[in-house]
Amino acid sequence: MNGKILETENVTVSFDGFKALRNLNFNMDAGELRVVIGPNGAGKTTFLDVITGKVQPTEGRVLFKGRNTKRLSEHQIARLGIGRKFQTPRIYLNLTPWENLEITCNRNKNVLATLFGNSPSEERRTVAGLLETIGLSAKADIKAGLLSHGEKQRLEIGMLVAQSPDLLLVDEPVAGLTDEETYNIGELLLALAQSHSILVIEHDMEFVRQIARKVTVLHEGSVLCEGTIEEVQNDPRVIEVYLGS
Ligand code: ADP
Repeated sequence: MNGKILETENVTVSFDGFKALRNLNFNMDAGELRVVIGPNGAGKTTFLDVITGKVQPTEGRVLFKGRNTKRLSEHQIARLGIGRKFQTPRIYLNLTPWENLEITCNRNKNVLATLFGNSPSEERRTVAGLLETIGLSAKADIKAGLLSHGEKQRLEIGMLVAQSPDLLLVDEPVAGLTDEETYNIGELLLALAQSHSILVIEHDMEFVRQIARKVTVLHEGSVLCEGTIEEVQNDPRVIEVYLGS
């Protein structure tokens, strides 16, 4: 895919007069892996909410694949090709990783595929491939409730990928994970970035250094600066915002 996958133009979101986002201008290319950081209250969650249609911009507009998403419901925007991973995994704990992925694949099959294909063997290959990508082939048949926190996060990322979104929104995927689990999530996102556009919100700077090519810093609802991790870390405005918070 060429061009911009996501653009926000002068987006403001007001809650009872308080501006959680202020004239936010952001864009990212198709195929990019972008990390958005910012101190608490910077507007990161609201930013994801306005992209997914959970909240509407008070002013400005959001373009996904060049299309203005105004007046579309959350469900319609998801169907345009945006998948969102929340901080807490939303997986079926009583089912196995295999079953979790199978259900997600089935739910996202279109009507024609349901009537004429995919064949069961194709479906099995898809699920097996996803399990390999997320590193859970060996745990395909145990209850998901028995997985470690990091494995659950990877399973949910696999379920997101099973929906074939054009843009993956990933909210703080490594909160509460061990160093090893954090590293594994980073490697998984880097692998997925070969074939997906990914926007990650994250606090853990070690993790940001592992995955980020380009970082956007949000502050008080606007973009404070953008650049490589080295550029933003050395930016005096960023240092002030973080030390001051
Ligand atoms: P972050 O995710 O960067 O911590 P948020 O997007 O959650 O920031 O919040 C940005 C600001 O907007 C905060 O000051 C927060 O209190 C405020 N805010 C977020 N959602 C609401 C809401 N529904 N009503 C009122 N204020 C809100």
